[in-house]
Amino acid sequence: MTKRIPSDTPATPPPASALTQAISCVSDYDPEALQVTHAQAIIRNCISPINAMEKVAIRSALDRVLATDIISPINVPAHDNSAMDGYAFHGEDLRAEGATVLEVIGTAHAGWAYEGTVGNGQAIRIMTGALMPVGLDTVIPQEFVSVIDHASDATSSKAITIAFGAVKAGANRRLAGEDLQVGAAALKKGRILRPADLGLLASLGIAEIPVQRRLRVAFFSTGDELRSVGEVLDPGCVYDSNRYTLYGMLTRLGCDIIDIGVVADDPAALEAAFINAAENADAIITSGGVSVGDADHTRQMMAKLGEVAFWKIGMRPGRPLAFGTINSSGKPAVFFGLPGNPVAVMVSFYFFARDALHHLMGAHPAPLPLMQVSSASAIRKKPGRTEYQRGILSRQTNGEWSVKPTGAQGSGILRSMAEANCMIVLAHNQSDVGIGDQVDVILFDGLI
Ligand code: AMP
Ligand code: MG
Repeated sequence: MTKRIPSDTPATPPPASALTQAISCVSDYDPEALQVTHAQAIIRNCISPINAMEKVAIRSALDRVLATDIISPINVPAHDNSAMDGYAFHGEDLRAEGATVLEVIGTAHAGWAYEGTVGNGQAIRIMTGALMPVGLDTVIPQEFVSVIDHASDATSSKAITIAFGAVKAGANRRLAGEDLQVGAAALKKGRILRPADLGLLASLGIAEIPVQRRLRVAFFSTGDELRSVGEVLDPGCVYDSNRYTLYGMLTRLGCDIIDIGVVADDPAALEAAFINAAENADAIITSGGVSVGDADHTRQMMAKLGEVAFWKIGMRPGRPLAFGTINSSGKPAVFFGLPGNPVAVMVSFYFFARDALHHLMGAHPAPLPLMQVSSASAIRKKPGRTEYQRGILSRQTNGEWSVKPTGAQGSGILRSMAEANCMIVLAHNQSDVGIGDQVDVILFDGLI
C-alpha cells in the first residue's frame, strides 16, 4: 500500500551543495570582490579527501601520502647498545676519587652478542652499535683511556686507566626503545613521506606501506590564439606555456596527470573536453577563458555540467578564478578555472589549487613558513588586494637577508618567476613598502 503525503506537508528544500554551504559561511560574500583568504576558506570547506588506499614497497612510497598511522611493531633500537667505539664496564666501578683501573677481558663486535660475564673491576672493548653485555651500563670512548698492555709478559693481559671525571656512570649507552617504543605512533596518516621516513619505515621492518592512491588531475589550456610547441606561430598567436608550468607544478605535487592539450574558445569543444576530463580525473584545471570577456559562454556551459562559482579575487596577479565541481559523469570532479596569463596561472595554482589538491589527496603538510625579511627596495602597493611579487632573496655583506622584486611584475612576464627564488607576499591591507621595511616571503626551494 502506498502512503499518501498530505498536500499541506511543507516541501523539503533540496540539500544545499557543499559550495553553497561554504559560501554561506563567508560574511559579506561578493563574487565580484572576494578576498584571497575568503576564497581559500570556501575552497577548503568544499573539499573532502579521496579515500583510496594501496600498498607499495618502501622505495615507491617516497613523496606519497601515508594512508594510515604507522604504529611501531618493535623497540628501536631493539636492545641496549654502545654509542661509541670504546670500553664498556660497570659504572659503579668508577672511583670516587683518583683514576680507575680496569682489566680488559674481551671484545664485543656489532652484530655479535658478547659471550661471557664481565665482573666488577673488568671491562671489554666494544664497538659502536654492539650489544651491551648484561649488567654493563657505561662506555668510555677509546680516546679517553690510557691502555696498559702487558702483551710481552707471561700474563699477556691488558688494562685501561680512566682518569678521574673522564666519564659519568651510564654514559654512551643507547637504550632499547629510545628512538621509538613498541606501540608508539611512528608516522601519522596524511604525512607526505620524505627520505628520513623511508629510513624510519625500514628500521621498523615494515616492507609494504599503505599510501593514498595518486590523485588524477586533468588539465587543458583554452584560447584560439594558442599554438602548441612544434607548431608554426601564426601572426597574433602565442605558444602555450601554461600546460608546461601546470605539468611541472602537478608533477611536483605527486599527481598523475592527464594532459588534454589546447582547446579552442568554442563552447562545443570546451564541453567535450570537460566531459572527457570529468570522466577520468579527480580534479580538472584549465587556464584562460574565465575573465570578463570569455566568462559568459563558459558560465552557461558550466551550469549544465556542474556547479561553478566565478570570482574576481582581490589579488595581483590573477584576478579571475572559477571554482566548483563538474558532475557530468555522475562522479564529481573538483574544478579550478585559472586565469590565462602565465604568471597568474602559477600564483593562482600555488595559493588556491595547491592546498586544495593536498587536501583532496588526504595530505596534511605543514603550512609553508612565511619568513619576514627587510625589503631592499621600495615597492608600490595599494591596500585592498593581496599581491604576490616575485622576489630574489639574498644575503648582504653584513650577513642579513633581504629581498627585492625581480623587476617588471606584469602577469604575462614568466621570466619574473624563472628568475625569482621566493614570493614576496604583500597582505590585503598593506600599503607601500619602504626600503628596510619588513615583508613576508615564501621560499621556492627547500633542503628536502
Ligand atoms: P585569458 O585569461 O584567456 O583572457 O588570457 C589572458 C592572457 O593570457 C592572454 O594574453 C592569453 O594569450 C594568455 N594566455 C592564455 N592562455 C595561455 C597559455 N596557455 N599560454 C600562454 N599564454 C596564455
Ligand atoms: Mg583566452
